[in-house]
Amino acid sequence: MPAANFLRAIIAEDNRSGKYGGRVVTRFPPEPNGYLHYGHSKSIILNFGLAAENGGQCNLRFDDTNPATEDVEFESSIAEAVRWLGFDWGTHRYHASDYYDRLYEFAEWFIEHDLAYVESSTADEMRALRGTLTEAGTPSRYRSRSVAENMDLFRRMKAGEFPDGAHVLRLKIDLASPNINMRDPAIYRIRHASHHRTGDKWCIYPLYDYTHCISDALEGITHSICTLEFQDHRPLYDWVLARLAEGGKLPPPLPQQYEFARLNLTHVVLSKRKLIQLVEHGDVDGWDDPRMPTLVGARRRGFTPEGFRIFAERIGVSKSDSWIDFSVLEDCMREDLNARAERRMAVLDPVKLVIDNYPAGEEESCFAPNHPQRPEQGKRALPFSRELWIERDDYQEDAPQGYFRLAPGAEVRLRFAYIVRCVGAEKDADGNVVAVHCTYDPATRSGTSGADARKVRGNIHWISAAHAVPAQVRLYDRLFAAPFPGMKRPLGTAADGVIAAEGARATVVAGDLDDDEVPETAERSWLDDLNPDSKRVITAYVEPSLGGAAPGEVFQFERHGYFVADLRDHAPGKPVFNRTVTLKDSWAQR
Ligand code: ATP
Ligand code: MG
Repeated sequence: MPAANFLRAIIAEDNRSGKYGGRVVTRFPPEPNGYLHYGHSKSIILNFGLAAENGGQCNLRFDDTNPATEDVEFESSIAEAVRWLGFDWGTHRYHASDYYDRLYEFAEWFIEHDLAYVESSTADEMRALRGTLTEAGTPSRYRSRSVAENMDLFRRMKAGEFPDGAHVLRLKIDLASPNINMRDPAIYRIRHASHHRTGDKWCIYPLYDYTHCISDALEGITHSICTLEFQDHRPLYDWVLARLAEGGKLPPPLPQQYEFARLNLTHVVLSKRKLIQLVEHGDVDGWDDPRMPTLVGARRRGFTPEGFRIFAERIGVSKSDSWIDFSVLEDCMREDLNARAERRMAVLDPVKLVIDNYPAGEEESCFAPNHPQRPEQGKRALPFSRELWIERDDYQEDAPQGYFRLAPGAEVRLRFAYIVRCVGAEKDADGNVVAVHCTYDPATRSGTSGADARKVRGNIHWISAAHAVPAQVRLYDRLFAAPFPGMKRPLGTAADGVIAAEGARATVVAGDLDDDEVPETAERSWLDDLNPDSKRVITAYVEPSLGGAAPGEVFQFERHGYFVADLRDHAPGKPVFNRTVTLKDSWAQR
């Protein structure tokens, strides 16, 4: 049973009352101007998920009304990311630009009914006349143009007679409205630019608020779900659709807009504008760098679609902004990876372990389950021999109390093999340990009756030195060392955990929706908060079977964490693994 939330409740009520005849049609409307990030996964899972739960449909609609910034490459990457998350729009893939003809026809209808006029003031003049939050706007001298003059000018705008910026088409609503979005918003502007789908057919382009509600209505959307910054735009959404419905241009029932809190996650930034800067500065190795909070980056990191769905369900949806700690996302990934990832052994910081009483040149196979909770996944053979690699920190000459690993005289189990007793270590001239020595007890082989005869506390992993495969391992960590990059703390937040930031939403000025919605208590540049240790590249020894891993395959390296064979660089004979997440969250203890 999915948890209750306000959107599920609204839809259940609409289904009960028959408002939409039991239909549920949602949409995910990305602007094709960049790669999707973790925040978009929340919106995708919400929109596609609500539709699926109700036997409905979710449309993928590219909101491509800004000819300058859009690109076909972004469209395919967005579609691929939605599919990767596990969703299917069927045949319902649309573009806002599909509706340019209808949008234009409706604009003429608004002019005809004296509900729109051509504004010829400059942008500065318009700003001066717009008023403030406390003062009403002032009509410009163009507001009283006749219907005939407006129609003539608008048609000439379309015909290309005017340069960019010479005129805009504005709705005639209410200059005294306390909501600035209702003070005669511009709905068309002149833009002599080629569009990636409509080419040079148009030199006027509709603006977002006008386009979005009409696109929703034309597609028969029932529930139009968006982030909170659009709350102040809802009266405009409703106004446009209500006028068109009254005029018989759109059939009822009309779609309804609902707002939810966007995802804010600590230790990353979720804004295309900032992500572009990281790529352009070379702070990361491209859009799909595993540290990037993009969905292409997540995939290369080894994060899973199922993990994102667990996360979306765990954080829920609410109507007030909040911050989610990065560890919550990591926990969801662990939950999924723990269930699916096969176990393997890898030694990240190797030192030799020599078994003095094991015959040189001899070898045998030990058997390890691929998954402790899933015996049906079988076992694999691990070659065992006289010289092994173990982790450097699994030996200590002067072991503190409670240290149950190797130390002179101490006994440990070599996982899936034998119990060994440490007899000392060889050191180089500088006192560094170069090899640890031990003896083994042949009667204690795992899986034999002697295995449990003697109990030892320590249990360490190892790899036969002669059989070990060297691999490049990239140890990724949080992209930003500070939880709120560039901010001491977002306004009104608690100190830790899942952080509530009620009321942190800034007033968004119309037409400027691409900036962050959370105000920065600007202290320093957000770039200064990058974690200098977010990527460490080492050469590790991994067990032989890992040489044959497929790119994208995930594993648990025992005692270390989850790792994925890199999608770009991993190749036969040249293994490369990325650390997805450690086994336990240790960030807070550092
Ligand atoms: P950005 O601010 O990073 O540029 P955007 O809002 O401009 O993102 P769009 O492509 O316009 O990105 O967004 C597509 C959909 O994803 C919108 O419905 C938007 O509200 C939603 N979305 C974007 N960011 C988040 C987020 N952090 N949490 C939840 N939903 C988001
Ligand atoms: Mg946007």
